[in-house]
Amino acid sequence: MTKILINTIYRATEGEGVQLGSPQIFIRFQGCAIGCVNCDSKDTWEFKPEAAMEMEAVLAKVDELASEGRWPLRRVSITGGDPLHPQHVPALMELMIDLKLKGYWINLEAAGSRIVDDVFKAADFISFDFKTPSTGVRTSLELLARFIREYGHKGQIKAVIADNADFGAAFEARRQIDEQVGAHPIPWVLTPCFSPGEKMPLKRFQEVMKLNEDWGAPFRVIGQQHKWLYGADAKNV
Ligand code: SF4
Repeated sequence: MTKILINTIYRATEGEGVQLGSPQIFIRFQGCAIGCVNCDSKDTWEFKPEAAMEMEAVLAKVDELASEGRWPLRRVSITGGDPLHPQHVPALMELMIDLKLKGYWINLEAAGSRIVDDVFKAADFISFDFKTPSTGVRTSLELLARFIREYGHKGQIKAVIADNADFGAAFEARRQIDEQVGAHPIPWVLTPCFSPGEKMPLKRFQEVMKLNEDWGAPFRVIGQQHKWLYGADAKNV
């Protein structure tokens, strides 16, 4: 019997990126070894054995939440934690196959640290992070270029921007990638940082938009709508 480490499964409207505004069922994995300094989900880091759920229970919970409204939802977002950590991948793959058989459209949140081809092929949409300096983590530009070449037709690149240095790093990454890969239609999305405990960072948001305007608009600036509505500390929204 397959078990998966799960932090939570909940129903909500996508609050960030180009899928903003789409209601879906979120499956949040428990366990991440990446360690972003400004992570807003640190409760998902520990690989807790007590978080293990039977695959059947996960699927049943997804179906139950999907059927709550007057018309069933058919969208799932798999997030974390880091669902692509090698410890999760066998169960993740099984979960994705089962969800596809049930007719769900699957969004996968990838931390930008690895590509797992079988998983990426099974996903309908992939959000791939470019880690900026404020995260304390680095995304390989070679990996990013490969993601764009092979999966860019069904993905977005997302970068959290805390300050000018983050914007500069994203801009330089985009410039180098454009040189390597050539013109590509994948959207690059900047997410102005909105950390736990903070009030709505209006000034930061305005500055990120202004930087993008001043530097030729290579990005789309999309905030975290769920945090505007419910606050930066709210969970499962
Ligand atoms: S990859 Fe995601 S869950 Fe893991 S530390 Fe970074 S932001 Fe947090």
